[in-house]
Amino acid sequence: MPVSLIEVYNLLPRTNCKRCGTVCMGFAARLIAKEARPEDCPLLLEPEYSDNLRKLHEIIPATEKELTGLMIDDDRCTGCGICIVVCEENRLMNEEVLYGKGGRYEDELVLGIEEGKVRLLNANRCKRAFKPPEFCRACVDHCPAGAIDLVTP
Ligand code: SF4
Ligand code: SF4
Ligand code: SF4
Repeated sequence: MPVSLIEVYNLLPRTNCKRCGTVCMGFAARLIAKEARPEDCPLLLEPEYSDNLRKLHEIIPATEKELTGLMIDDDRCTGCGICIVVCEENRLMNEEVLYGKGGRYEDELVLGIEEGKVRLLNANRCKRAFKPPEFCRACVDHCPAGAIDLVTP
């Protein structure tokens, strides 16, 4: 179900201070349109709003692209699985991956193949989505088809 403007608005500090560049209702609309992040409202970073911030992240989850910067081009991906093997996080949690097998702990796999195409199965396990993020572009650099790219360097 799409998130409602009022639901988001009710989680904002509602001071209309315009420190985000607009009033709270305008900011709510920008959050839903993914034109702003909750952290762009400085008041939400204060301890008294930590629950609101957490709820906003729950109802407007970051997309995989936002979390990792990785973009997969289905038209180019051949499903060869090279990116899955070179991903250190995949290998650390599932040593079967090293031998070209499916991972034992699927909920720990970052990348996996579904219907012949690679999928970002658990974006939050990608090093790039760690808090703080770690630099990694192994899957991008090793893809022979140029099917993975980054929106951020
Ligand atoms: S900075 Fe926060 S409290 Fe101030 S207007 Fe924007 S959303 Fe509302
Ligand atoms: S993204 Fe590239 S390396 Fe990964 S499965 Fe597709 S073609 Fe192979
Ligand atoms: S960027 Fe690194 S950690 Fe993230 S999916 Fe690619 S290889 Fe794995």
